[in-house]
Amino acid sequence: MLYQRSSALFKDAQAVIPGGVNSPVRAFSAVGGTPIFAKSAKGAYVYDEDGNRFIDYINSWGPMLLGHAFPPVVDAVIEKAKQGTSFGMPTAIETEIAELAVSMVPNIDKIRFVNSGTEACMSAIRLARGFTKRDKIIKFAGCYHGHSDSFLIAAGSGAITFGTPNSPGVTEGTAKDTLLARYNDIANVKELVDANKGAIAAIIIEPVAGNMGCIPPVDGFLESLRTICDANDILLIFDEVMTGFRLAKGGVQELKGVDADIVCFGKVVGGGLPVGAFAARNEIMNYLAPLGPVYQAGTLSGNPLAMAAGLAMLKAVHTDSGLMNRLEEKTKYLHQGITDALAKNNVTHTINRIGSMISVHFAEEAVVDFESAAKGNNDTFKKFFHGMLNEGIYIAPSAFETWFITDALTYQDLNETIAAVEQIAKTL
Ligand code: PMP
Repeated sequence: MLYQRSSALFKDAQAVIPGGVNSPVRAFSAVGGTPIFAKSAKGAYVYDEDGNRFIDYINSWGPMLLGHAFPPVVDAVIEKAKQGTSFGMPTAIETEIAELAVSMVPNIDKIRFVNSGTEACMSAIRLARGFTKRDKIIKFAGCYHGHSDSFLIAAGSGAITFGTPNSPGVTEGTAKDTLLARYNDIANVKELVDANKGAIAAIIIEPVAGNMGCIPPVDGFLESLRTICDANDILLIFDEVMTGFRLAKGGVQELKGVDADIVCFGKVVGGGLPVGAFAARNEIMNYLAPLGPVYQAGTLSGNPLAMAAGLAMLKAVHTDSGLMNRLEEKTKYLHQGITDALAKNNVTHTINRIGSMISVHFAEEAVVDFESAAKGNNDTFKKFFHGMLNEGIYIAPSAFETWFITDALTYQDLNETIAAVEQIAKTL
């Protein structure tokens, strides 16, 4: 594959955009090399500026559950745009998508739309703090909830300490209110809660983690979190930005049968336009302005183009009774194919999969938390990534990301992907 035009575009971009990108992981910093510049995409494929075609497993980092340029979404956006692109006034379509979302997701009465997953999680935390009148939150090492200050806290080795900022610009004052726990370690959560009695507003979690590769919760973990939250009047926040409308129509709450108090959405809910949302039962949502004292707002929130895309997407997910099963079957097929290809070539690996999320960890032991994910061999991953790219398979340029399977993938695409893994496995 040649990336001449991408290289030239990257050079130009670097002069006027920090690192040449508007979101860091796109720069290929973790894997080296030149980021490919996308020109267009359709179905399961993305085409770059050099004319290369890739089978896409990033899918805009999750939104493209039904493939790129999904016609109902594209048509809806075009039609809406003709009527004006933003009003800053309420519109009928906002209620329409809200009604549909509330009907699909268990345990929520009201939903508010924002412009990104970051905004959704940031607002959910403020709402939880306002509602409980407490300051501290617990987050899990390796979980990502967007780039707002409270969440940019990394775990130290012993997680039972006050957080320390891991990005300059996050103040110590903010960091001290974020407590860190180990994913899938309920004893660790209990210790934190006991040590901070009456001070914790919320526990926020990716109920299936996707930001340290894919890591599903171990049996009983989410249930135990629910129990701890109930016993201590702590709100449980499920960050379903990745998992919402993807792992089940009602997200992980439905899949695992565990209720959250506040749920955050992004990605699929916007059909590829900038949308996030957070939702809860009336008692909590009525705390938000203008009904309640917790302030939250947005000039472009509920934007008509974004709502049109989201509504078309949710309708498609809602009405397709075979969708979740097809996604699961395709992902399972890929899992088996990759396992066989790597095993045949004695490549040490662990694959995590749930629904349409899957990740290949070049690690020996089970990957259940950030520590075990970090034990993966990054050199192997880099070789794997570039090998796959050269074979026309686009996976995320970091070992700490999940692959997103889309319904647009055919079994021929999956076979092509497995064949590529087989080729590359020989070189690892
Ligand atoms: N939460 C989760 C679980 C995410 O995966 C992401 C983004 N990958 C976010 C929040 C932040 O969303 P956004 O990038 O739209 O701000």
